[in-house]
Amino acid sequence: MNDISPGLRARVLLEKHGFQPTHALGQNFLLDERLLSHLIDLAGVAEEDDVLEIGPGPGLMTRLLSQRVRSVTAVELDRRLKPVLSSMLEGCENVRVVYADALKADLCALSAPGARVVANLPYYITADVISRLLLRGPGYKSVAVMVQKEAAERMLSLPGDKQWCHLAAIVRYFGKVQILEEIPPEAFQPSPHVVSAFLRIDLYDQRPVRPNDEALFLRVLSAAFAMRRKTLQNNLRAAFPLSAQAAAEAIERAGLPERVRGEAVPLEGLARLADALGELLKAQL
Ligand code: SAM
Repeated sequence: MNDISPGLRARVLLEKHGFQPTHALGQNFLLDERLLSHLIDLAGVAEEDDVLEIGPGPGLMTRLLSQRVRSVTAVELDRRLKPVLSSMLEGCENVRVVYADALKADLCALSAPGARVVANLPYYITADVISRLLLRGPGYKSVAVMVQKEAAERMLSLPGDKQWCHLAAIVRYFGKVQILEEIPPEAFQPSPHVVSAFLRIDLYDQRPVRPNDEALFLRVLSAAFAMRRKTLQNNLRAAFPLSAQAAAEAIERAGLPERVRGEAVPLEGLARLADALGELLKAQL
């Protein structure tokens, strides 16, 4: 099969092994070599890069990536793809396939700081995977992923927008995000019922806000979005061992309105709040 194109090879292998895609695993494959090469261009990878791919599926993107970068580590949950991937990646010495759940795997053991992520993500776990990559990863250079168009637009939202959410806040804290291209349903096999978007997050060397304690700031960020109808004060009390008075004091010291809701506060305000909270918690010890 060495004389046929990688795209055709992927199709033939899926058929030969009688592979039936599972909707619940988000198995909408991209089998067009030209489109994938274009997406790899957009991902901005270079020869010296190590790439982490989430969900290689039949491995066409993996194979094309392996020709463009130093190494590829691909994490696939579905072991039924093993025979397809083994044949598809024959001779690709710089590829390692790990059969694991990307939501549970130790990302720092899979890739080193400075690696890039490239993936056509399963949409049912988009938000969880992206926040995990940013919060638990080793510190990637960039994260270029295919997601549902609405999810991409949510990630680009700003404080005060209706769509502003915990994921958007995390993305904005870690990097600069841009939608690079919209991809129609017909590009996938089988076709999903939604339009997709390929986006890239370029991670900052210097974050836009500098809380004294980043771990505490990220907990405050998470608390701010925990229960959307509640005030920030109530959400803080649910997340930290605080009296109503101490929560109110932290909010006041951060210069925020008493009854403000978490989703209305920009990152700068939440960073000030984390700093104020840190001092109050220390004083409580
Ligand atoms: N990269 C391939 C492509 O573009 O054709 C496949 C993309 S398909 C949208 C998503 C892939 O992610 C599938 O192969 C699926 O089995 C895999 N997957 C689903 N959930 C996963 C998880 N939790 N961890 C790792 N891979 C997962």
